[in-house]
Amino acid sequence: MSFSFDVKCELCAVEVKNSCCKVAMLYGMLLFAQHIGKDEIRVVTENVLVANSLNTLAYDVFGVYFAMEETANGYTLTLKGDVLDSVFDRLYIDVNGKLSLAVSSVITEKSCCVNAFLRGAFMVGGYVSNPENRYHFEISTSYYTLAKSFCGFMRRHDLPARTVVRKSSYVVYFKESEAIERFLYLTGAKTAVFAFMDVKIQKEMNNYSNRVNNTRMHNIEKTINKSVEQVKSINKIAEKIGLDFLEPDLAFAARLRLENPDKSLNELAKLCGGKFSRSGLNRKLARLSEIASKLED
Ligand SMILES: [Zn+2]
Repeated sequence: MSFSFDVKCELCAVEVKNSCCKVAMLYGMLLFAQHIGKDEIRVVTENVLVANSLNTLAYDVFGVYFAMEETANGYTLTLKGDVLDSVFDRLYIDVNGKLSLAVSSVITEKSCCVNAFLRGAFMVGGYVSNPENRYHFEISTSYYTLAKSFCGFMRRHDLPARTVVRKSSYVVYFKESEAIERFLYLTGAKTAVFAFMDVKIQKEMNNYSNRVNNTRMHNIEKTINKSVEQVKSINKIAEKIGLDFLEPDLAFAARLRLENPDKSLNELAKLCGGKFSRSGLNRKLARLSEIASKLED
């Protein structure tokens, strides 16, 4: 199953104690229903646990169950009849005239209810991609006024939401991993938050080891460039005046470098058998380059 599916399963297991939060969560679920009308509310979900949660809440709050039907893509839950009037009344949904859905500030007044409302909204209308692939979070609706109102609601709660139109849907989304983590944390998807943290740590580790490798490569390159320069100088001296005419220590250093062009200064110093220290050898090689620079090309 998808990451999103697992998150919804986790949210279904969050215990909702307060009756205010039960209303808020059910409100979130129903606002993001596929259809809200005078005649019926129709909710579609692919997740049986979400369907069961909705019915448990509907029973707790209104004493009714939605009729549940299994379809090829999941489950369709429908509520019809006289009970709709009291549902719409209680949830501040005005279905008379042109439907203009907006997030009720009365139902979402308390912070416990904000979290419950967001949880319900995500469970029916939401999708979050696996953080191993990319960071993307969205909640979609077919109602424009709801998308606008919900986007503002998220922003007021420090969730940097934006909206985009996709086919016949209005999508409220964000792509910042911190925002997704915050949403998951607020709504109670703790395991999903840890999954995000794991991925981030893994990515940081990879970056770190890339940086270390780059530094190592850079150092190797520097050693090689230096050695190429030194070998060039020594060859020039050998060609113009001959190495035997150098002082014995310089001649020794020159031959050592010519025989070991791939070695770093440290490695070369070790090959001296105590004759020169690292810095002593470095001075000899610098001296050779200086002599070469004074010779005519
Ligand atoms: Zn509450």
